[in-house]
Amino acid sequence: MRAPGGARSIWTGIARRAALAAGAALIHAGAGLHRLGRADGDAETVPALPAPDYEPHDRAQLEADLRRGISEDEIVPYYQPILALGTNELVGFESLARWRHPHRGIIDPDIFIPIAEDTGAINDLCFALLRQACGDIRRWPPHLTLSINVSPLQICDSELSLRLLQILYANGLAPGRLIVEITESALIANVAAARRTITSLRNAGIKVALDDFGTGYSSLHHLRELQFDRLKIDRSFTQALGTSAGDTIMRAIVDLGGGLGMPITAEGIETAEQAGTMDQLGCAYGQGFMYGRPMPAADALVHIAQAEQSAPRARAVG
Ligand code: C2E
Ligand code: CA
Ligand code: CA
Repeated sequence: MRAPGGARSIWTGIARRAALAAGAALIHAGAGLHRLGRADGDAETVPALPAPDYEPHDRAQLEADLRRGISEDEIVPYYQPILALGTNELVGFESLARWRHPHRGIIDPDIFIPIAEDTGAINDLCFALLRQACGDIRRWPPHLTLSINVSPLQICDSELSLRLLQILYANGLAPGRLIVEITESALIANVAAARRTITSLRNAGIKVALDDFGTGYSSLHHLRELQFDRLKIDRSFTQALGTSAGDTIMRAIVDLGGGLGMPITAEGIETAEQAGTMDQLGCAYGQGFMYGRPMPAADALVHIAQAEQSAPRARAVG
């Protein structure tokens, strides 16, 4: 469902359930803290089935494949458009990783990101994706931003900001075009380390967004402690629009972001009604299937050309 541009293998569906089941077991064991903040909500809707017999073998095979997949650039950034809600102008894309596995087809990040985290390959994966994205972005107009996801495990890495900067400079990309998305779960384990990383990223001119806002344990606490350039409201809140409680909560979040000087991006916009409501509430940016699903680099170029044709205006870099 989230893998346009490639047939999603049956294996992926089965493995996803197995991975979720394994994740649930880890969480119960208290060992999966860094995954608690995954905001898909899927963990609650998919029953925690015992992993099938073949899963350990498959996982071992995938672990072995992953190193090769990273070094051979089999894992590629797909790009999902982000728009300014007031004008419907394209302002940037979020990079969402897809593994073009030579035998298994397209594999979703929910499967391989946890493996990359567990095997210590998450930094290499992140940097490989950014390098590829830098190549893609050279063909984009300069006002478009790139948002990347970093794993909660990476936030405590004191060298993260330096490594990202090195890649940007090596590829001639201005730091101001990069937005690093951090989930709230990243802040739970070590707020002090997260603060150092966020400060260092922002001092370097890289923007920082708080992803899946509202799903963490202490969202408001984090807003008092840390300064973000954007708040991304989790799509579960967008889906609740149209109900009295849903509308009230959304209005409060948008007002909160406004008061703190942190523009809001609404995730998971699928209908014109949702887009209209968010615009009326004063939400700055929107992202969701209504505007476009995550797409390969070539399709993103076509998307950009179409967006430029429908809104050919001078824009400020933001
Ligand atoms: P996320 O960062 O919250 O990304 C948004 C997810 O919501 C994406 O799933 C996207 O395809 C999906 N989505 C976007 N719009 C809609 C919509 O309108 N409706 C619905 N139902 N879904 C929508 P995806 O691509 O499967 O990514 C899942 C998660 O995997 C991401 O959640 C992110 O946490 C993680 N991820 C993806 N790429 C990377 C990466 O390169 N590095 C790291 N560390 N994590 C990544
Ligand atoms: Ca994200
Ligand atoms: Ca999100």
